[in-house]
Amino acid sequence: MTMDAVTAPETHAFEADVSKLLHMMVHSVYSDRDVFLRELVSNAADACEKLRYEAISSPALLGDEPQARINLKLDKETGTLVIEDNGIGMTAADMGETLGTIARSGTKAFMDKLAADKNGEGQQLIGQFGVGFYSAFMVAGKVEVVSRRAGEVDAAIWSSDGLGTYTIAPADPAAAPARGTRVTLHLLEDAKTYAERYTVERIIKAQSGHVPVPIFLQEVAS
Ligand code: ADP
Ligand code: MG
Repeated sequence: MTMDAVTAPETHAFEADVSKLLHMMVHSVYSDRDVFLRELVSNAADACEKLRYEAISSPALLGDEPQARINLKLDKETGTLVIEDNGIGMTAADMGETLGTIARSGTKAFMDKLAADKNGEGQQLIGQFGVGFYSAFMVAGKVEVVSRRAGEVDAAIWSSDGLGTYTIAPADPAAAPARGTRVTLHLLEDAKTYAERYTVERIIKAQSGHVPVPIFLQEVAS
């Protein structure tokens, strides 16, 4: 295998419905953008729950880190917000199947409702439905997902600016989570507040209090 084969990212187009949804997220005039954090934290918690379930029959998957956790890392300097979990993780193939299609239950229900929305905008529907992973593009101009599935050696990176395509490539194992998923949001100019402790703490307390996995907040200096 050549170096190129190892490192070259593969570019994929989003499903048409995803593009539609993303367009709406990117051009959202929806005022309560805070919901994106609830969605990403709930995905992180779901991933921890899936691992806990798989570990009942395969305890080795827990390795030397049996405790589920979610870490939020805030960097005001670079304007980034990181949501990282040590849950089940995703392979490159998983990423292609889940982060580019509309198959998920929550998003599907939202799209169905949107199609029936006579006024066309559907902005108010964002808060009513779990709009899922793609809501990250309400606050981020670029989203990167680095992940390693529990029990796997290889790690992968998914990346997109939400404008029609995404890439998937092998990730440097040394820079990937030992297990689980790291979502990095490169915040839009008008969304930099989501890299501030005050804002993030407020949203977590208001929207993610019920999450059964401990959430750690950390400000990082770049
Ligand atoms: P839903 O959570 O309703 O399934 P989402 O759009 O929020 O829909 O997420 C889509 C899918 O992407 C999830 O079902 C899951 O398979 C995958 N996914 C997203 N975030 C993570 C994560 N942190 N760890 C593992 N898988 C994830
Ligand atoms: Mg979700």
